Amino acid sequence: MSEPLEQWIEAHGEGALWSAFSREALQDGERLLKDQAVLDCSPGGQGFFARVQADRRHVYSVDCRIHPLPSPRPMTTHCGCPEGGACCHAVAALLFYLGRRTTEGASSTNPAVHQWLSELQSARDAAPSSRREVVVYLLEDDGSGGLLVTPRRGRIKRSGGYGRLNPFQGLRRAPAELLTADDRRLLRLLPEAGSAIAPEDLLFLLEAMARTGRAHWQTPDTPPLTADGPAAGGFRWQVRNDGSQQLRPAADDGHKLSFAGQPPVWLEPSSGRFGPLDTGLAAPWWSGPWPRR
Ligand SMILES: [Zn+2]
Repeated sequence: MSEPLEQWIEAHGEGALWSAFSREALQDGERLLKDQAVLDCSPGGQGFFARVQADRRHVYSVDCRIHPLPSPRPMTTHCGCPEGGACCHAVAALLFYLGRRTTEGASSTNPAVHQWLSELQSARDAAPSSRREVVVYLLEDDGSGGLLVTPRRGRIKRSGGYGRLNPFQGLRRAPAELLTADDRRLLRLLPEAGSAIAPEDLLFLLEAMARTGRAHWQTPDTPPLTADGPAAGGFRWQVRNDGSQQLRPAADDGHKLSFAGQPPVWLEPSSGRFGPLDTGLAAPWWSGPWPRR
């Protein structure tokens, strides 16, 4: 967040920002934000610039100039719409600006902005814009009943799918625009490269990856993973690579793969669906550490 705006919020609270707008502008601005009408927003001048899609035919440029303390007003907004500023487009741009900066951990703002932000974020994740570079989560079997995740980065193709995938070099080296808030949270929770997901985290992390719409089984050509309900299964002995045997969860449906988790998880590569595997056993039997190499 720009220093002057942060100072303003600290000194006067967020009410100081919103008092400059009418109730209608605030309500309409919130709706514009939810509708993802803010096309882009970048710092510039003495504040930031944004473009807001007002309707099918009109995109308005908003220029928000943030005044340093002790100026009596926090900001001046200019907009290309007939109102000229202090309008719903300026509200949408400001909400977007505050929310987006908040995801980067720079500051905390009010819970309403957080909620708008998370809705905005999930909507974006569901329908990422063409050509945007994103993180893709590729999943595979670790050979002993565990699940490995390899994050890669690639651009979304206009025709759907991704362009060539490149290695993901880690959170700290990733450009800010690559990662959504969900990606940041997920990448902090995923195990190191080459390590399987911990059994107690398996279903939770699969669901979180599925929500991005960018998790796939083995290759990005398979359907994105989607959470589904429980499937019936049990436990079977399987021979490992070293010849020893291991008791593993197994779905009754032979098209479904199974993974050791608490609960065990089924996954169908052809459809990308997954869910908890109902083995008919009471939780305490398998809730201890799963036998692993
Ligand atoms: Zn306007």
